[in-house]
Amino acid sequence: MVTNIGMCKFCGKTQMVSANAEWTEEKIADEVLLRCDCENATRHRAFQQFGVQMDMLMGSGALEIGFKEPANGIACAMVLEAANAVYDGDVRSVTVQLSKNDRVTVTDGPTLTRREVREVSQ
Ligand SMILES: [Zn+2]
Repeated sequence: MVTNIGMCKFCGKTQMVSANAEWTEEKIADEVLLRCDCENATRHRAFQQFGVQMDMLMGSGALEIGFKEPANGIACAMVLEAANAVYDGDVRSVTVQLSKNDRVTVTDGPTLTRREVREVSQ
């Protein structure tokens, strides 16, 4: 193990990081961001998680978990904008209707949910 001192790219606060010798500067910087409790590092982590949720619920991952189709780029951009507004407390939640029976909602966190109602054809 090697001890490195990394600096948060947002607030400049330093953190000690015990790293493997092969860790790159970039990985150490990421590790510092995971630990820093400043506002921007906290936001960065929240949106990193939100990006994973978006990939899963609106990206190609959505097909794998049973949704009919991924959301288009405009819907994704709107949801990301909505997530910023919810995170900042400007609005409480935002719902984007993707199609007649399919919608995504951004709530506190930001957290993303998607609901698709299937019409049962007989
Ligand atoms: Zn920081």
